[in-house]
Amino acid sequence: MPPLSWSVNEIFYSIQGEGRHTGMPAVFLRLAGCTMGCEFCDTKYAFAPGTQMNGLQILVELAKFPCKTVVITGGEPAEQDLPGLIAVLKSAGHTVHIETNGAHDCDVSKADFVCVSPKKNVDEKMLQKADVIKLVVGQKTDLKDVEKYYNYENDKTTLYLQPESNLQENIDKCLQLVKNHPTARLSVQLHKLLNVK
Ligand code: SF4
Repeated sequence: MPPLSWSVNEIFYSIQGEGRHTGMPAVFLRLAGCTMGCEFCDTKYAFAPGTQMNGLQILVELAKFPCKTVVITGGEPAEQDLPGLIAVLKSAGHTVHIETNGAHDCDVSKADFVCVSPKKNVDEKMLQKADVIKLVVGQKTDLKDVEKYYNYENDKTTLYLQPESNLQENIDKCLQLVKNHPTARLSVQLHKLLNVK
């Protein structure tokens, strides 16, 4: 049987620009492909066919960086064998963070941190597994679309509101929402503000 492999868009070393770990250095392992089709998607380049890599090839690439924290992102990582990939990285001693749209329920229990950024068709089971729910807020976002996520906040799970495209009108909307509901947090895309990848 051939070794498991994943379709990879890119692997690069940068800082986490969003949410709870903003400012933290991390290696980003971006898997290729996503079928969600969000209008505002800022990683459409990841929809292109990726490079097929097995676990060993991925670990060799990750070993080039002086950082053991890996953020598996996309595209949508859960459209591939995400539990298998987490297991490969954990076996090599990496700290594994996941970013997913939450539409595909899968076992992420071995990951160290799970961020669910819900779009359409989010699976409630994935919301319950999230350490962070990161909601992108744009002008079309209805207050009711935000409020339904308040039910998932607890000691483990924090809700972050992230202004779509860092537009001022969306920043203002998020600020107002967070001030009215102070257990939520504001997430700006720091890497975009700093103009780093
Ligand atoms: S779910 Fe994420 S990666 Fe997929 S289209 Fe939407 S924003 Fe892009």
